[in-house]
Amino acid sequence: MDADVIVVGAGPTGLMLAGELRLGGADVIVLDKLAEPTGQSRGLGFTARAMEVFDQRGLLPRFGQGETLETSPVGHFGGVQFDFTSLEGAHFGARGIPQSQTEAVLAGWATGLGAEIRRGCEVLSVADGFLDGDHAEVTVGTASGVRRLRARYLVGCDGGKSTVRKLAGIGFPGTEATRAMFLADVTGLDLKPRYLGETLPNGMVMAAPLKEGVHRIIVCPHGAAARSADESVTFEEVAKAWEHITGEDISGGGAEWVSFFSDATRQAAEYRRGRVLLAGDAAHIHLPAGGQGLSTGVQDAANLGWKLAAVVTGRAGEDLLDTYHAERHPVGRRLLMNTRAQGMVFLGGDPAEPLRRVITELTGYDTVRRHLAGIVSHLDIRYDVTDGAGDEEGAHPLLGRRLAKLPLTGPDGESDTFRLLHAGRGVLLDLVGDPGLRAAAAAWAGRVDVMTVTVSPADRGAVFAGAEAVLVRPDGHVAWTGTAGATGLGTALTHWFGAPAEG
Ligand SMILES: Cc1cc2nc3c(=O)[nH]c(=O)nc-3n(C[C@H](O)[C@H](O)[C@H](O)COP(=O)(O)OP(=O)(O)OC[C@H]3O[C@@H](n4cnc5c(N)ncnc54)[C@H](O)[C@@H]3O)c2cc1C
Repeated sequence: MDADVIVVGAGPTGLMLAGELRLGGADVIVLDKLAEPTGQSRGLGFTARAMEVFDQRGLLPRFGQGETLETSPVGHFGGVQFDFTSLEGAHFGARGIPQSQTEAVLAGWATGLGAEIRRGCEVLSVADGFLDGDHAEVTVGTASGVRRLRARYLVGCDGGKSTVRKLAGIGFPGTEATRAMFLADVTGLDLKPRYLGETLPNGMVMAAPLKEGVHRIIVCPHGAAARSADESVTFEEVAKAWEHITGEDISGGGAEWVSFFSDATRQAAEYRRGRVLLAGDAAHIHLPAGGQGLSTGVQDAANLGWKLAAVVTGRAGEDLLDTYHAERHPVGRRLLMNTRAQGMVFLGGDPAEPLRRVITELTGYDTVRRHLAGIVSHLDIRYDVTDGAGDEEGAHPLLGRRLAKLPLTGPDGESDTFRLLHAGRGVLLDLVGDPGLRAAAAAWAGRVDVMTVTVSPADRGAVFAGAEAVLVRPDGHVAWTGTAGATGLGTALTHWFGAPAEG
C-alpha cells in the first residue's frame, strides 16, 4: 500500500479530511491535478458550524484574526434578512475570508500533521476491485508519466464534476442548471456594498469589498440561459448584466477574475461504495446561497475523518464507516432543500414577491428566526445516535447534536469544550467526579479522554439538563449521555470507538 487513504482533491474538503485522518493516525496522500492552487476564491467565508469545527481543532488563530473571527449577526434566508443570534451561538458565519486562505490554512495544518500533498497528479482511473477487494487502486497522470497508487480506501473530494464518483459508478441524481449567474472580482470601481444581496425587478446583485481596490460582485440576471462547463463569460457581459439590473455603468472598471455558476442541484446516491467514499462538492452541488458548500464539505470531512482513521488503523469495524452515509446523506439532502427554497425566494423575480413578503412576516417570530438560523448556520444538525444506545432514559436534548463551546474548569485549569477536542479524540465529560466512569472507559484509553470538569450552574441546567456524563465524539457531536453509575456507556463506547482493549 502507498497509504492507508488516498484523498483525491486538495480543495477545502480534501485538506480538512487529510488533517482529520492524520489526527486519527492514518497515513494519507492527497492528490490534486493542479500543479499549484489557483489562488481563486469562489467562497468568501463559512457558516457558524464550520467555524466551530475549525475552532474544535484550534485552527481559528491561523486565520490571522485571533481566537474568534469577525462574524455577521445578520444573515438572510433567500434574501430575507434577519438576526441569526435569536438562536443561541448562531450567526451568519465568518465572512470576508477568501476560500484560497481557508485552503492555505488547512493545507498548512494537514501537512504539519504529516499529510502528503502531491500536486500535478490527476486521477484518471480507478481499478475494479474496490467493491470487494482489500484495497483501492488508482491510475494517476503526472508530468513524468502515469503511475498507479494503492490504498485501503479512496475518498473523492474532487469537486462537483468528480472523476472518482463517475469512475465508481455512483449516481448523481438531481436537477439541471436552469440559469447562469456571474461572479467577478472587479477593480477600479467605488461600489456601494450590497453584502446580503439586493433583489431588483431584473435580477439579484451582491457586492462586497474583497481586498484593497477589489470588490466581489455577484450578478444573477433573470432569464440568463444556463451555460455548459466549456463556455466562458467576459467582464463586458457581466457589466452589461449589472447595468441591466442596477442601472449602474461599471464598464469602466476591470476584473481580476470572472466566472459563472449555476443552480444545478444534485446529490450522490451513495456516499460510500465499497472502498470508495465521497465528500464535499463531489457528493452534493447546489446554488451557493448562504455560503454553505465549503462549510458542508468541511463538516463531511470532520464526520468521516475519525471514523475512517479508526477503521484503517484497526480500532473499529467497517460498520462505523457506514454511519458516514447514514449521517451525512440526510444533511446533504436538507442542504439541497434549503438552497433550492432560497433560490425560489431570492431569484424568483416578481412572481416570488408574495412568498418573500410572507417569509418577511414570518421572520418577525422568534421561533421562525431560530429555525431558519439553525438551517443556514448548520447548528440544527442532529445525527441519529440511538444505535449506540444514546442514553439511558430516552432522547436527551444533547444527543446527536453538537456540544456548544462552553467554558469549564478541567484538570489543566480554565478551558472550554472545544479545546478538549483539539487532539481529535473522543471525550467523556464527567461532571460529577464519578470514579466509576473513569473505570468504565479505561479500556478505551488513547481513543477517549475522560475529563472531570466543572461547568457553570447555568450551563449545567440549561445545556447538560440533568446529564452527569456526556460522551462527545471527535467531531463534537454528543454520542451518549448518562448519570453516575450508568450502564449504557460501554455499549456506546464500543459502537463509536471499537471493541475495548483486552487486559
Ligand atoms: C459563487 C460561489 C460562491 C461560494 N461561496 C461560498 C461561501 O461563501 N461559503 C461556502 O461554504 N461555500 C461557498 N461556495 C461553495 C464552495 O466554493 C465549494 O462548495 C467548495 O469549493 C467545495 O470544496 P471541495 O473541496 O469539496 O471541492 P473543490 O473546491 O471543487 O476542490 C476539488 C479539488 O479536486 C481537484 N480535482 C478534480 N478532479 C481531480 C482529479 N481527477 N484528480 C486529482 N484532483 C482533482 C481540483 O483541482 C480541486 O482542487 C461558493 C460557490 C460559488 C460558485
